[in-house]
Amino acid sequence: MSGPLLKVESLVKHYPLGAGILTKNIPVVRAVEDVSFFVEAGETLCIVGESGCGKSTVARLLMRLTDPTGGRVLIDGTDIASLRKHELRAWRRRMQMVFQDPYSSLNPRLTAGQIITEPVENFERLSRKQRNALAADLLQKVGMSPEMMHRLPSELSGGQRQRLGIARALALKPSLVILDEAVSALDVSVQAQILNLLMDLQQQLGIAFVFISHDLGVVEHVGHRVAVMYLGRIVEVAPCEALFAKPVHPYTEALIAAAPVPDPTRVRLEAPVEGEVPSPVNPPGGCAFHPRCPLAVERCRVEVPPLVQIAHGRAAACHVRAPAIDIPTQPTVACDSSIASPGEANELIPALERPVIARPIT
Ligand code: SF4
Repeated sequence: MSGPLLKVESLVKHYPLGAGILTKNIPVVRAVEDVSFFVEAGETLCIVGESGCGKSTVARLLMRLTDPTGGRVLIDGTDIASLRKHELRAWRRRMQMVFQDPYSSLNPRLTAGQIITEPVENFERLSRKQRNALAADLLQKVGMSPEMMHRLPSELSGGQRQRLGIARALALKPSLVILDEAVSALDVSVQAQILNLLMDLQQQLGIAFVFISHDLGVVEHVGHRVAVMYLGRIVEVAPCEALFAKPVHPYTEALIAAAPVPDPTRVRLEAPVEGEVPSPVNPPGGCAFHPRCPLAVERCRVEVPPLVQIAHGRAAACHVRAPAIDIPTQPTVACDSSIASPGEANELIPALERPVIARPIT
């Protein structure tokens, strides 16, 4: 099938705060606002941003663990956001998730082997021999001894538990795995092992990853492209190397400037972001970043900047750095156009040019 594996269109998620008869007046948490992106087969798209920016809500929406308020989530062209529960079950085979806390996401009463084979047994009956063979194969794939299939999660280390979570996610041979802060709870050395494992598995099996993290160091190593979120919206999308070399959006610039750099020769960008992230219940009007932005102009206070293409494969939402220009007549659709109308921005982002940046961490 042509087109991206995953395409997200204008995704919205609002959580009402309380309930009542006059539902119009109930305040809502605007967790995700008008989010659009795509993921190609075999690609890693990283979603980054501060706590509370909506990245984990996007992960839950992709898995349909919560229903969207609006928008579409298309897997191979099928909108899973509109499927009924029994229809969704078959699609769940295509998408799996690895959670941040490996211990709480594993059933403490099941052995490693049972944890791995449980998702498969939801779909088909397996003999004891088939179960053992599957568990042994997947444990080996994630670098664990098949003998560990008899151990309980409490008998495994943090890194082994996360490997087990990855083995469970692979059991159904998914096309897409969503990793929500999957290495954040691990020691740095174990993080490196798990990241290398993920990159190896991607090369072997051609799986696409949506990698959600607040750690830019990790993102820089594993990502092919990065989407930066701020207060529920994507503010910049770019190939990983381009984003770290030359961020466009002032918020991306500030995030990169604030990240610790383990290389004393690397010059840090001076763009510290000040102030707190505003409440998603009552976000600022216009560009939500304007109260913290050193470049804010009057227009930023009243008009939400659209995500527009600024270069080949890059888009940003900023009135100053990426101004959208109205095109009154026939819109330009050439891929290398530097001008795009707001509604077309996502369509104009050209097909993935896959940078070879996945590299082992030593
Ligand atoms: Fe700053 Fe304005 Fe750009 Fe928002 S739109 S990031 S406030 S310059």
